[in-house]
Amino acid sequence: MSSPRSNTGLPSVLRQLGKMTAIRDTYLVEQSLLRTLGPLLGVTCTSLYRIDAQGLVVRSLHHSRAVTADEGGMQRVTENIEEVANEEGLPEELLDLLENVRLLDKPSSRQHGAEHLICYPIHGGGELCGYFVLHRELDISSAEDSIVRGVLEVFNNFYDLLDTSQRDRLTGLLNRYSLELNLDRLWNLLHARSHAPATVRESRREELSQRYWLAILDVDHFKNINDTYGHLIGDEVLIVVTRLLEASFRRSDLIYRYGGEEFIAIVAANDLEGAVRVFERARRKIESFKFPRVGQVTISGGFSGADPVVLPQEVINRADSALYESKKAGRNCISHYESLVQQGVLKEVSAGSVDLF
Ligand code: GH3
Ligand code: MG
Ligand code: MG
Repeated sequence: MSSPRSNTGLPSVLRQLGKMTAIRDTYLVEQSLLRTLGPLLGVTCTSLYRIDAQGLVVRSLHHSRAVTADEGGMQRVTENIEEVANEEGLPEELLDLLENVRLLDKPSSRQHGAEHLICYPIHGGGELCGYFVLHRELDISSAEDSIVRGVLEVFNNFYDLLDTSQRDRLTGLLNRYSLELNLDRLWNLLHARSHAPATVRESRREELSQRYWLAILDVDHFKNINDTYGHLIGDEVLIVVTRLLEASFRRSDLIYRYGGEEFIAIVAANDLEGAVRVFERARRKIESFKFPRVGQVTISGGFSGADPVVLPQEVINRADSALYESKKAGRNCISHYESLVQQGVLKEVSAGSVDLF
């Protein structure tokens, strides 16, 4: 095997690129980028940071790799990938470097103790959307720099292609395919956040008091809008509803276009009252907006606690049955599944039961 840092390292890069581009999921291709570049540059830890439109880190992915020898002298490689869903706990010197790269929009490095902290910008759709970061004793050579830039370019193009397939073309929201692809991963993230160890818990008190809630929101009598004003105006209504929803939720909340005029929102709120406030705010915002030509448009919704011990599909089903109750109750309202069960309006289907036959 050739050393990845020697001149003969190129075919191994190509092999890795081949593997990376065979993947069909944005999250996995990010993992693969870190797996490709870490060993290539002889570093054990690499990170990828994703930012929002304001430049704040919303998600980071950390890859570490340890090579140890077992009793027989055989080398063992263990890999670890960790995903973190916010920007808390990032060291000052790193935030400083990210900011520098953002302002200059080009790679930058700086010495931190005995190490160099090296950062490359990542672009998506022509915009800065993240950073690739590594720590190393040596600064990067110009040959290595060319390889990293080349790999990042392939990664960016490929990521954009995949991202496009996971987004809805009309509204730009993530689509149902993307939701279904990532539900299990999303559940794991939520679960990890609500079960962080005590030491982390102290520093993240505010965040950890939060729970997650999943709502299905559906435009009322949307068929009438299409029938009365035509499909194009209907499309415009969907775009405006999307923008109003985005303005109602926090940037860290998630919104998906689930179907024609149906959206799924996953939001963080401390308690039921907080969740009701968030969803009601969205409902009222839409109710009070004057839509061009159409005038008033309303939405109905149903939501349920995104409890990590309940299967994600079951949470969606619960939100959907609460939505059905909102429609029955006359529309333009939001219902909470667990409250309806408590009131005896809905009968709970046991989430833990497994049908054997
Ligand atoms: P309800 O209040 O019970 O939800 O009634 P509704 O009319 O909103 O629901 P229904 O499911 O009967 O109609 C949804 C309509 O949405 C039917 C479909 O043609 C339309 N639709 C789905 N996707 C799109 C789209 O992308 N653009 C437009 N303009 N219409 C769409
Ligand atoms: Mg519908
Ligand atoms: Mg509808």
